[in-house]
Amino acid sequence: MEHSLPARRRLRVALVNMPWSWTYMPSIQCGLLQSVVRKSGHDCDVLYLNLDLAAWLGDETYQQIVQIDDQAGHFCQLGEWLFSYAAFGDIRPDHDYFAEYPEVPEGWSAMRSEGPDRLIAYRRDDLPAWLESVVRGVDWASYDAVGFSSTFLQNNASLALGRLLKTRFPDLPLIFGGANFDGGMGVAYAEKLWWLDYVVSGEGDIALPALLDQLAAGTDDPIPGVHRRGSGRPDPGEAARTRDLDSLPVPDYGDYFAGLARYDRAQVLGGDDVRLHVEFSRGCWWGAKHHCTFCGLNKMGMAYRSKSGPRAVAELEHLLCTYPTASVDATDNILDMKYLHTFCSELAERRWDLDLFFEVKANLSREQLALMARAGIRRIQPGIESLSTHLLELMRKGSTKLINIRLLKWALHYGIAVQWHLLAGFPGESDADYAEQAEISPLLHHLQPPRTLHGIWLERFSPYFTDPASFSISGVRPQPSYGHVYPADLDHARIAYYFDGEVEGTASPEAHGLVSAAVAEWQRAWSRRDRPTLFYRRLPGRLSIIDTRSGRPRKAVLEGWRGDAYEACGDTIRSGKGVHQQLLDRGHDLSLETVTRFLDDCCRSGVMVSEEEKYLSLALPQNPR
Ligand code: SF4
Repeated sequence: MEHSLPARRRLRVALVNMPWSWTYMPSIQCGLLQSVVRKSGHDCDVLYLNLDLAAWLGDETYQQIVQIDDQAGHFCQLGEWLFSYAAFGDIRPDHDYFAEYPEVPEGWSAMRSEGPDRLIAYRRDDLPAWLESVVRGVDWASYDAVGFSSTFLQNNASLALGRLLKTRFPDLPLIFGGANFDGGMGVAYAEKLWWLDYVVSGEGDIALPALLDQLAAGTDDPIPGVHRRGSGRPDPGEAARTRDLDSLPVPDYGDYFAGLARYDRAQVLGGDDVRLHVEFSRGCWWGAKHHCTFCGLNKMGMAYRSKSGPRAVAELEHLLCTYPTASVDATDNILDMKYLHTFCSELAERRWDLDLFFEVKANLSREQLALMARAGIRRIQPGIESLSTHLLELMRKGSTKLINIRLLKWALHYGIAVQWHLLAGFPGESDADYAEQAEISPLLHHLQPPRTLHGIWLERFSPYFTDPASFSISGVRPQPSYGHVYPADLDHARIAYYFDGEVEGTASPEAHGLVSAAVAEWQRAWSRRDRPTLFYRRLPGRLSIIDTRSGRPRKAVLEGWRGDAYEACGDTIRSGKGVHQQLLDRGHDLSLETVTRFLDDCCRSGVMVSEEEKYLSLALPQNPR
């Protein structure tokens, strides 16, 4: 006789997106997991409580708190500190925090003309009161499970709300996941915090539906990556990863837009336009071969997986048809180079007026950047990091000074904004590495400047962190802000992501200061009303270079083969020999010595740069094609 199995219980799940995540974009973590959970047969809502707090505090206050965290020279964790009282009560005296991070009260006072007492009031009174209002304002009892996705500065807000919910609804299962719970950090929290029923470490696409199915069935078999409170089982390791990203559903952002509609839009967003996140790949194809020494991308997650080109286009089209924005930021750590032939070519054909953002490797050619611009990629973050080839070698970036300058040059030509920084503080660096960068900077004032020069931090999972001795790094310890935002009985060495340490063999503060000053000068020049330019005009038999970098227009005319030689080093980096051969092929009867002497003269006059007998022209063609 056959027995039919009882129908599995369909759960009602809430995923919570807490402050201080940006209000101008929905959460891809929650949006994707919502689709995954629904696909697995359960109901799922995403609660955008970050929007609720922005409406409660006002957009300006919310953004200013986020900005102080972004702009502070140190990892001050203001957002985490503000929710730490609600999560844990007193940790250390408030004024100790301000003494450790004077930029916080200074920044607050500059923005608001208010003293730090206002921040203390937010921490001790306003934010706990807001959390109470959230507990009262949502029908939590109608859910079978609540999940928190915690990345960046969402941790203490998530932990604080979780604690309140567990107190009021002891039988409501609480699940915590996200980057803040990756690779052993989650277990360290779960061992100490009694309100964390389940912690998912790693990707949630497979582990979360498996856990929900078990909650529905009332079973508790081990699931890779899922830690259960009180199970007595050892560290469950990392969650299973999705191998075929095409099998993932498209994220659902409907609850974000429904949330926005509930509030006064200006109160929540200020003047910001909404942007969407989209994920085309995970891992890093470069890091899988050469993990950049400072990069904290989890080694377990480095293996590169990407969606197929047609799937990526279809997903983008779906998002653009469903939601009212043309601004889309890819979360990918690095653009899949295959996308140039598939995704970018297809988008270039479609001629949508997009504003796409990608992180890319800096080794992109002129043709590739031109194609990306036609595809609607308007903003890139190319991981330039330095204008010193020696420093780039130390960090295993697989790039050079000239490659980075080529990127800046052609990105500008094709109207692609470049977001980049200079990094400092690498073991093995020297003052000469910074003197070289300070010297070359004025030649680049016609290109987009870096935002800052800042020292590297030791990131969990980076080679500097996992193998410090090989890099002469010692005394690795959590950054001091953890001591202000988490209680001492949490093991800070196990929950921290950013660390300090003694790094041997770094350049002097004066050398770093030289580059900081050069960056400031570059930014000043770039923000002038008459922005510096360096371009050339091609006419029969001659090439004119017009240079306004110094503020005083200068013109040089290169006649005959000299114009050809200058232009030959324009698209890409060329050796003297290569340029010489090209000129011979065009019928110019010249010696190699004559050609290299001319190229070296161009370098001396500041319209070309060279390294290891390779040359790159700095002027952009006036002709936009
Ligand atoms: S820094 Fe960028 S390129 Fe380097 S390993 Fe990390 S993600 Fe990859």
